[in-house]
Amino acid sequence: MTKIEPISISKLIPSFRQLDLISEDKFIRYCRDRNIRISEKDLRFYEKKKLLYPAVYVHRGYISMRKALVFRRKDWEWQYFEEKEINNINCRAVALEIYYMLGGISLRGQNWLDYYIERDMVVYPPNNLCIEDYPIPTETFEIDIKKLGNPYETYYNRYQAIIIKEILSYLTMTFMNESLFQDDKGWIQAGKELKKLFKSNILFLRERVKEYYRCLSFYNELKDIRIKSILELNEFYEQLIKNGVPKEEAFLDAKSHVELQERDRTPMQCKEILSKLILKSEEIVKWQKMFVARARQNDPAIPFYDYIKDLPKEVMATVKGDYLFSQDCYRIAEDITWFLKMIGMKPKSVKELATFWRHNVCPYCHEFYLPKRKNSQTCGKKDCVRGHKNHLKKLRRKMGIYD
Ligand SMILES: [Zn+2]
Repeated sequence: MTKIEPISISKLIPSFRQLDLISEDKFIRYCRDRNIRISEKDLRFYEKKKLLYPAVYVHRGYISMRKALVFRRKDWEWQYFEEKEINNINCRAVALEIYYMLGGISLRGQNWLDYYIERDMVVYPPNNLCIEDYPIPTETFEIDIKKLGNPYETYYNRYQAIIIKEILSYLTMTFMNESLFQDDKGWIQAGKELKKLFKSNILFLRERVKEYYRCLSFYNELKDIRIKSILELNEFYEQLIKNGVPKEEAFLDAKSHVELQERDRTPMQCKEILSKLILKSEEIVKWQKMFVARARQNDPAIPFYDYIKDLPKEVMATVKGDYLFSQDCYRIAEDITWFLKMIGMKPKSVKELATFWRHNVCPYCHEFYLPKRKNSQTCGKKDCVRGHKNHLKKLRRKMGIYD
């Protein structure tokens, strides 16, 4: 057996842009919209197994409240008010006790998390938080803050959805032959098989997560540069409109202004990313192909593109599931293509790569390869062959064949 070097945990912590963070419940919905079925329990489990960590935990803070006797409609009533406002309330009496409630988190602005970082309310994984040991948070007022339950909100980087899809593809088994499950033994057997599958795949999956996060840190930086250009374009455009320039002309002017800026400034910024993250351009070309391959693998619309290409954008924007997932991947591949151009390369376009794909990209590592045999299914690297064997195993199960 080959010895696998353990991965340092820091490589399994996702980097993020604050704008891409979403709370756990939204993240689960975000995944579901892309046909990635994951539950809160699954996420806790992956975290415990050191496979997939959230990006951050943010403390909601406690708001102190006092009860005051105020006149409402016909009678005097005790009501809760924020302590800091109590002096402005017209009341007959204020109770001595201080009550607490959980605060809410405001995601306003590009750097919304800074507010919480400055106040020491952000916790990064890995940590000893043990979220699941806290009771479910309540929205009540309590004297004892412990009764308020879990004060932390968990946040993920939305782009972690892509790696979850991959993890699930390795950890899901489909059992078709229901007769296997007519007694408890069948279920126990299935449970055992799943446990084995997880155990045999975890090290390999950690390696995939690490590689993916390396790509994600690169993509975060890239997006920052791109979004800056878009914001600049908008700003410049608005300014021109204010000065009475007609819309169409203003747009073209703004566009060429930003393009000029990009020509001067962006290539250098992009090259800085390379040296900052110690990246080689080949690695980035590989990622470009990986995202195209991932998009193609999941894109249910390939046979229908001729029919849907004239549909309004707004209609297509409502389509969810695998289609939405594949569109995310195409978009990332487009961004990477833009980056490659910026650093002076002449990359293949996403479209070119997409038509190329089927026979030339290994479905496991997503690299292009020359088939050694006529019916090669993988590039032949060890991990990919392994992945393929697992895939076949799954298929056999699907047909109800046990080894
Ligand atoms: Zn491969």
